[in-house]
Amino acid sequence: MINVAIDGPAGAGKSTISKGAAKELGFIYVDTGALYRTIALSAVRNGIIDDKDAVIKMLESIDVKLGFENGTQCVYLNGEEVSAYIRTPEISMGASKVSAIPKVREFLLDLQRDIAKNNNVIMDGRDIGTVVLPKAECKIFLTASAECRAQRRYKELIEKGENVKYEDVLSDVNERDYNDSHREIAPLKPSEESVIADTSELTLDESIALIVKIIKEHM
Ligand code: C5P
Repeated sequence: MINVAIDGPAGAGKSTISKGAAKELGFIYVDTGALYRTIALSAVRNGIIDDKDAVIKMLESIDVKLGFENGTQCVYLNGEEVSAYIRTPEISMGASKVSAIPKVREFLLDLQRDIAKNNNVIMDGRDIGTVVLPKAECKIFLTASAECRAQRRYKELIEKGENVKYEDVLSDVNERDYNDSHREIAPLKPSEESVIADTSELTLDESIALIVKIIKEHM
């Protein structure tokens, strides 16, 4: 099996670019952020997002699963398909919070590894090359400037009809970057073997072409 790990900060275009590259290569695309978002959704629904101990306790009674339908990933929380509820700013910030809890990361580890064991995957996240798939054939650290990432996410949210301000999106990006790279467990950082790809100046098609080229060089 060929495993490709794509890590990088929020809004670098990881999911769109990884999805495009996976389609071109016939690989399964796995968005691991969706898993942290699903835990956050469950915590928000239970009113315990700021209570670490309660979140840890909650893990004993929840079931999180990934499914793939026609190449599109779906995520299930206790059997309910929740993909439509996990992309709001509230859940983004919640995911950043729960992802700093070691027990949460542990809880999601086997699920991620099992998929990679049985499929050719492009898996995107923050710690895929460093922790989840340290033996991945190809590791890419995908990044772009904070302003550029905030601009992209802002556009995405506006298109979805969310009522947001650019300044708020930029400060969320900066806050999440800070949280993700300063947490004690699995902080966001390129692994030693990562190829760094900066997409600030690239179009989507150019970014996908670059990633496909890097992957092919490692196959
Ligand atoms: O990638 P996405 O923005 O959907 O991820 C949401 C949050 O989940 C991130 O801000 C990060 O805190 C967390 N995350 C993580 N490790 C991963 C994927 C996501 O800590 N592998």
